[in-house]
Amino acid sequence: MHISLLVFLISLIGTTLSNPVHYDQINNKLTAISEQIDQAELRLNNSITKLLNTSQSSNQAVSALLIIDVQYDFIDGSLALKNCPSKHNGEEVIPVINQLLDSHKFDVVAYSHDWHPTNHISFFDNLHLRSHLLTPDSIPLADLKLYSTATFAINGLPRMEQSLWPRHCVQNTHGAKLHSDLKVIEEDNAQNISVIHIQKGTKPDVDSYSAFWDNSKLSETQLNQFLKEKGVTQVFVVGLATDWCVYSTAIHGMEHGYKTFIIEDACRGVDEKTIKERLNDFTQKSGHIIKSSQVKDYIQE
Ligand SMILES: [Zn+2]
Repeated sequence: MHISLLVFLISLIGTTLSNPVHYDQINNKLTAISEQIDQAELRLNNSITKLLNTSQSSNQAVSALLIIDVQYDFIDGSLALKNCPSKHNGEEVIPVINQLLDSHKFDVVAYSHDWHPTNHISFFDNLHLRSHLLTPDSIPLADLKLYSTATFAINGLPRMEQSLWPRHCVQNTHGAKLHSDLKVIEEDNAQNISVIHIQKGTKPDVDSYSAFWDNSKLSETQLNQFLKEKGVTQVFVVGLATDWCVYSTAIHGMEHGYKTFIIEDACRGVDEKTIKERLNDFTQKSGHIIKSSQVKDYIQE
């Protein structure tokens, strides 16, 4: 546009010098060109604004904090981590999680609850209920101990390996309650914060470490649908236990297409060896391990 204006001005000077009586005509042409430049500038500005808006909206992360199983039985109850090989104190995650909730605006906050019926397959003391369903290649009944792994074939379902845990998080018991020091926030429409509680491991014959799927992927909780409805793009996983329910939830989070973070200092686990192995597996699958102090780098406030 500027070049055409320059060309016109050169021809204008020539015309003016050779024929000074055409001033009105020249003035009209200048006005017309000026209007064209103004319109072009307006179109350009509109295009730039549109481009910037599109770019910003595509980079807009929608974040969910997934708080896994911060329940009494894992802290000072029947499956307390301090009695596991790691000797971790599960209670230590609480101030870190509370601080995360106080300091950052997560669009969605999900609380998972391990929530078992009394006849649940994961309880060692229920082994007699399904001893006839052990596969021929399972560790034999007589040799199965607390924390060992049995292999079951139930009702024609795929083989499933099941760790045998102490009875824990039985529905409606004290041990299944979220620790009272954990900050449990309510849905907040004014702040645009959505909250969901997920119960998992509710079916007698299949365990569920992940807050998304049961261990055999036979059924899904409502978590993924809820996150999708809210437009969530990335999830931060915290809670208990790092090497089991936190890890499984994080892996399924990635499988569902979320950018997935484990906030390491907001988790405690069962066994240092399995914690290391599973966190390595998580990072190899493109998961991100961060500290709670780094969360601010990843979410819009
Ligand atoms: Zn459980």
